[in-house]
Amino acid sequence: MTSILIIYTGGTIGMVESEDQKTLVPFNLDYILSYVPELNKLDAKLDSYSFENPIDSSDIQPADWTLIAKIINENYKAYDGFVILHGSDTLAYTASALSFMLEGLKKPVILTGSQLPIGMIRTDARENLITAVEIATQKINDEPVVKEVAVFFEDMLYRGNRIKKLSTEAFEAFFSPNYPVLAEAGVSINFDYSQLWTSDKSDFKLNDGFNQQVVVLTLFPGISAELIKSVLENNMLKGLVLMTFGAGNGPSKPWFLDIVKAAVSRGLVIINVTQCAMGRVEQGKYETSLGLLNAGVISGGDMTFEAAITKLMFLLGQSDNSLWVKEQMVTNLRGELSTS
Ligand code: ASP
Repeated sequence: MTSILIIYTGGTIGMVESEDQKTLVPFNLDYILSYVPELNKLDAKLDSYSFENPIDSSDIQPADWTLIAKIINENYKAYDGFVILHGSDTLAYTASALSFMLEGLKKPVILTGSQLPIGMIRTDARENLITAVEIATQKINDEPVVKEVAVFFEDMLYRGNRIKKLSTEAFEAFFSPNYPVLAEAGVSINFDYSQLWTSDKSDFKLNDGFNQQVVVLTLFPGISAELIKSVLENNMLKGLVLMTFGAGNGPSKPWFLDIVKAAVSRGLVIINVTQCAMGRVEQGKYETSLGLLNAGVISGGDMTFEAAITKLMFLLGQSDNSLWVKEQMVTNLRGELSTS
C-alpha cells in the first residue's frame, strides 16, 4: 500500500480565530484531519508530522526549510510521497528552497494550503488537501508519477520553483508565468507528462545551508545614487537580486553602471531579474541592459524572483566561490530556468 507523510507547518488551512476573535492564528493538524474523513477512503497509509508550533508562513525562515527537508530526508525510504501543508504567503519561496535542497528527488513532494480555513463553510482547504494527497499517491508501473517539488492549489499542479502568489482573494491563488501547469484536476487528474521533471542524479541527497547575506534592490525611475551605494557597499552583502525593467533593463547613466561595476569587482554576485510578471531577462537586447552585462551582472533568465533569491541564498550557502555560484545561477538545476 502507498504510504504518504503529511507535514503540517501552519498557514490559513488550519487557522482558527484568536481568543479575542480579531485575528486568525494557526491551530493543529488533528483539527485539520478531522475535517477530511474522505482521506481514509484513499488506498494509502497516511502518517503525519506537525511543527511543534505551527506558524503563519510570513514567519517562515531558512531554518524552517531545513527542518522540512530534514524530515523528508529522514523519512525518504519509509514513504512513497510527502504532502506539506503551508501558508500561501511564502509558499513559492518554500517550494523553491526545497527544490534546491532535495537533489536527485525521485518521489513526490507536494505543497498545498488554502485561502480559507478548513473549518469555514466555503473553504477550499478540503479539496486542496485531498487532491494533493491523491496526486502524491499516483504511480505508473510502481514508479511515482511526480518526482519533484510541486504545488497543488485550486485544480492545478505547478512546478514549485515556477510559481508566484497571484491573488489574496481568489481561490486560484497562484500562477506559473513561464512554465506550463503539470496537471489539472477535474473529474480526473490529467497530467502533462512531457512537463514533469526527472532528475539526472542517481542518488537522493539533502543539501543543507543558506547564506542570508543577500538583498533585493528594485529599480524605479528616480532611485538615488547614494541609496544604491549604501546597499551595494555594505560589506556584509554577498549576493543581490536586481529587479530591473522589462527584459532586464536599467539606467544607462555612468553613475549607476560604475556603482554596479565596482560592486561586482569586489566579488558581489548580482542577478538580474525582471519586474515584469511574465517573460525573461535578455541582457544585451537593449543598450540599457548591455551596460549591466558588461559590468558582470548575471542574467536570471525566466526565473521568478522567489526562485532566484532562494537559489542565490542556497548556492552561497554551499560555497563562497563566487565564480561557481555565478555558473550555477545560470544553470538549470531543478527545472527553475528555461535554457532555450
Ligand atoms: N498568512 C497566511 C499564511 O501564509 C495566508 C495563507 O495561508 O494563505 O500563513
